[in-house]
Amino acid sequence: MPDAPERSTPVHRLPSLRGQLSLVLGGLALAILAAVGGYLGSVATQELYTAQQVVVRSTAQFAAELLAAQLRDREREIELLSLAPHMVEGALDSQRVRDSLDRRAALHDEFAWLGVASPDGTVLQATGGMLAGRSVAQREWFVAARERVYVGDVHEAKLLATMLPAQPNGEPTRFIDFAAPIRDAEGRLRGVVAAHAHWRWVTGLVEGVARRQSPGAGIDALIIDGQGRVLYPEAMKVAQANGADVLPKVAGGRFEGELGFDGKTYLTSEAPLQVSTNAGLGWRIVARQPLDMALRPVRDLTRELVLLGVLAAAVLSFAALLLARRISRPVEQLARVAARVEAERRIPDFPDRPGARELGRLSEAMQSMARSLLSTEQELQQANATLEAQVQQRTAELQAANAALEHLATRDPLTGLHNRRSLDARLAEAQALDRRYAVSNGRVHGLLLVDADHFKRVNDQFGHPVGDAVLRQLATLLQASIRVTDMAARFGGEEFAVLLPELAGPQEAVMAAEKIRTAVEAAVFPGVGKLTISVGVSLASPDDVDVRPLIDRADAALYEAKRGGRNAVVLKAADAVA
Ligand code: GH3
Ligand code: MG
Ligand code: MG
Repeated sequence: MPDAPERSTPVHRLPSLRGQLSLVLGGLALAILAAVGGYLGSVATQELYTAQQVVVRSTAQFAAELLAAQLRDREREIELLSLAPHMVEGALDSQRVRDSLDRRAALHDEFAWLGVASPDGTVLQATGGMLAGRSVAQREWFVAARERVYVGDVHEAKLLATMLPAQPNGEPTRFIDFAAPIRDAEGRLRGVVAAHAHWRWVTGLVEGVARRQSPGAGIDALIIDGQGRVLYPEAMKVAQANGADVLPKVAGGRFEGELGFDGKTYLTSEAPLQVSTNAGLGWRIVARQPLDMALRPVRDLTRELVLLGVLAAAVLSFAALLLARRISRPVEQLARVAARVEAERRIPDFPDRPGARELGRLSEAMQSMARSLLSTEQELQQANATLEAQVQQRTAELQAANAALEHLATRDPLTGLHNRRSLDARLAEAQALDRRYAVSNGRVHGLLLVDADHFKRVNDQFGHPVGDAVLRQLATLLQASIRVTDMAARFGGEEFAVLLPELAGPQEAVMAAEKIRTAVEAAVFPGVGKLTISVGVSLASPDDVDVRPLIDRADAALYEAKRGGRNAVVLKAADAVA
């Protein structure tokens, strides 16, 4: 298999399809939900903040209005009582006066005590006869009510404390006082009528409003007097009395907006307590809600959104994983099948359920590609085999032709012996070898020139074809008489040559020539009878410049043999020619 280019990442290091899909879809879900969540959270925070501010403000206002109305009612009650005929005219210590006081006390739970005092401050008549005869001349309410209707600051019960039942929460019994002057028809002061209302009643009103306004939202209300003293709740009042800074420093003196009480941030709003007939009261109601309580619904919403986001991301990631598996499994199967096609050179079973149309098409395309590739490969192999056979056959033919050509080029067609050209080449070769080795081993080559005697007569007598047959038989005899290392050639016409390599001396050459001559002499030539040859013998000499002198010497020797009477061998030495 061809390797991928080296620069690209190896396949096994690439991230998987399912991993990528899960990551992308899961991340997308988280991102979208985080964006939506963040947006909704900020919008909701803003909305809720504004809404809670309204709730706190309305709590303060409502508590202030309710309390003001209730205080005004009690104020009016006492004022009306001071104007009643039995107060304006009758004796203030009469049983009638006492009865009317008792009736009012029975009517209003909050009144702990109602009483009438003389202009000098002696209690003349009171509910349950409490404090009768005692002096109240020093009391704030008494002093003030000699002049006008009075609603008084909160104070702890002094004389009455021992006479009334204790407060259920253990707090000291506190009162708020209502008092009004009693005047006769001429406007002269006859006395003062007063009521002590339980402070618990006041705080209960405020507390109830805060509780009812938005239950469970942690809203509470403070009552602060004109000098910045906390009147309610009790714990803050006590802490302040002990010197603690229970109230935040506020610019402009108004408790509005986000303020810190004792290290904790509250949404705060205040409302003044407007009691019409007593401008001097100067109280205000401060409503507050811990900021974390105010924004808790947003926090809950955010938490739910985060949970939802994580859940959605998980679900989407899982879905993506399934989807990616659905896609990647057939792709991996296809890859395995492709590898098998390559390894086994045949079409295996392709996955039958590709999972998606595109994958099905891919599978089909791969099958047809594999089929076409394999069939092309087979065709190629067949063509290759045919071609190889053809090449072998042609090569053999060529070799045969070459051999034939070689034979033609080096052989004599009539006798099959080497031709003159071949002889010349061997002579030159032998001369080169002699030059190289003859000095060391003393051996030289020799040449025989063989000529049929009176051959013309054979032709003349028996015809040319018979002459040819005789020449062929002579060639056979020649070949049979020499060694394999010797070389017989047709020199031309009825003349032959024999090259004898590595001769120890001239005698050896003469003996070879004699062997040939006697063989021919002994032979019978069909249709012709007996025949003889003459042989000229020569040996190579270091003085020979080329092959020519060797041939010339042999030729001269042959001439001598002919002149000497034929059927003879003549040796011609080298110096004899020169
Ligand atoms: P000598 O003994 O002096 O050699 O006498 P000779 O007749 O052999 O010599 P000569 O050179 O006068 O004659 C050679 C003859 O050989 C002449 C020619 O017709 C014959 N001859 C040469 N080549 C061939 C051949 O290929 N075939 C045949 N049949 N005859 C050939
Ligand atoms: Mg001749
Ligand atoms: Mg001849």
